[in-house]
Amino acid sequence: MERFSFINKGEILLWDNIPELIQLVDKVDALFKNFPELFVESMNLALEIKDHMLKLDPFMDAYSKKVCSLCANICCLNKNSRYEYDDLIYIVALRENFPIPDRNLKENEPCYLLTERGCKIPRYLRPLRCNWYLCKDLLKEMESAPARVFREFSNTFNKMLYIRQQMLNSFFRSLSGI
Ligand code: SF4
Ligand code: SF4
Repeated sequence: MERFSFINKGEILLWDNIPELIQLVDKVDALFKNFPELFVESMNLALEIKDHMLKLDPFMDAYSKKVCSLCANICCLNKNSRYEYDDLIYIVALRENFPIPDRNLKENEPCYLLTERGCKIPRYLRPLRCNWYLCKDLLKEMESAPARVFREFSNTFNKMLYIRQQMLNSFFRSLSGI
């Protein structure tokens, strides 16, 4: 396990060191590339997470469009969108490209993934902390949805979090077998 000490917990603290961030992404990617049989369960679970995120998207998108378009204090800042190691493992397990910034990031600048037309990546590739963040106004609006619809959203979100934990457990189990 010593060999894999480059995988930590919590936020990836390399936003002012992009070459090292690229190296980290490459190292995690090499695990999936070189040991596909070992990580097959993690990869399948990552696909299930994506599937749940795709189910959540229309509801979240409709309410974000409604509320965020009127917001005077947009929360899409780098400090609110920084990826964690768990996000990186999930994205690489999906065999998708991790969105590498093209410059060092400052905390209070607009998120590097924000464009004039909104976020440039699909919801299932955004950091969990970004997808999880529902401000008071947004949550209030969502809760005004029919009870069945909101319950379904909430159940799907919780199921997605549960599968995500299974995926991470599976990843670390596989890692200890190398
Ligand atoms: S989530 Fe809330 S704070 Fe963030 S942009 Fe939307 S309305 Fe504004
Ligand atoms: S990842 Fe997208 S939605 Fe999340 S803070 Fe950045 S621009 Fe906004």
